[in-house]
Amino acid sequence: MLDFKLTQEKPASDELATETYELIILGGGPAGLTAAIYAGRSRIETLLLGGSLPGGQPANTDAVENFPGFPEGIDGPELAQRFLAQAERFGAKVTLDNVTAVDFSAQPFTIHTYSKAYQGRAVIVATGATPRRLGVPGEDTFYGRGVSACATCDGFFYRDKETVVVGGGDSALVEGMFLTKFANKVTIIHRRDELRATQIYQEQAFANPKIEFVWDSVLEEVLGEQTVTGVRVKNVKTGESTIIDTAGVFIYIGMEPQTALYEGQLALNEQRYVISDRRQRTNVPGIFVAGDVQDPRYRQVVVAAGTGAIAAMEAERYLGAYPG
Ligand code: NAP
Repeated sequence: MLDFKLTQEKPASDELATETYELIILGGGPAGLTAAIYAGRSRIETLLLGGSLPGGQPANTDAVENFPGFPEGIDGPELAQRFLAQAERFGAKVTLDNVTAVDFSAQPFTIHTYSKAYQGRAVIVATGATPRRLGVPGEDTFYGRGVSACATCDGFFYRDKETVVVGGGDSALVEGMFLTKFANKVTIIHRRDELRATQIYQEQAFANPKIEFVWDSVLEEVLGEQTVTGVRVKNVKTGESTIIDTAGVFIYIGMEPQTALYEGQLALNEQRYVISDRRQRTNVPGIFVAGDVQDPRYRQVVVAAGTGAIAAMEAERYLGAYPG
């Protein structure tokens, strides 16, 4: 169980109070929290705005097996909480508040939330990425009533039931295997006949007697009444449509960067990820970026943490702690 003891800001009032910090970090995942550890330890006055729940994707992940230092693996929420405890130990202020607008056009930079305006001389953008949706009929209607993108959160509800998972990457396999702790059967629907997931997860999933694969197939519609009862699936090679009975549909088809707030302010690439150089600098001096919001390729906790550390060290240099 998560035990985040944080400041929960109150909703907006007429007059927004302004708080000023040397560094403001947007996002409370591994990148943002690692940046906060480094900045706090360097005695930079740091605020991290952590959205609704800090911890980022690990907070919604069953187990993280490849973060160095944990040879037996570690529960995702526990890892997230350890990041947070370490950031707070070094003096970073971590606040639960959702950013509603940013102004990166002038120093100091301004960040608006529902309750306050914040100003910072440097900003690290680490707002991550969110699960992509399929965009098929029934998906939105049954979201939260059988459709989910979080097996760790919702898997428990499918004890002794059948579920389907859509996708062929690491997330689909890891979360599909997690679901077998509860469900009778997990059917993984993938649009090709070859998985994208890493070999070790493929081996584990193929060896799991509760997992079945439906290859070369796409989910066309989520079916149900009050809750999900099934999915209509089409084989892309034969064109044949079939219905699979299921109580739950878990969608793991990749991620979208959280960059809507930065449109027109930061340079984004064609996929709308923030563009940065190897020093995590964006096109705006004083604004740095870290984690999945700038990484369509690796998306690993250790990589996000690494870019968070670089961003914090570069922010420190920018703030004048180091010459040059
Ligand atoms: P991903 O690697 O991008 O895989 C997405 C999967 O969804 C692919 O198999 C893709 O099919 C499929 N897909 C995409 N759009 C689709 C659509 N519209 N309809 C049907 N299928 C669709 O995403 P991910 O699995 O979320 O992984 C993201 C990153 O996190 C990766 O870098 C991964 O390594 C990492 N990750 C790591 C771990 C770990 O424990 N190390 C765990 C989870 C995730 P195609 O293959 O045909 O493109």
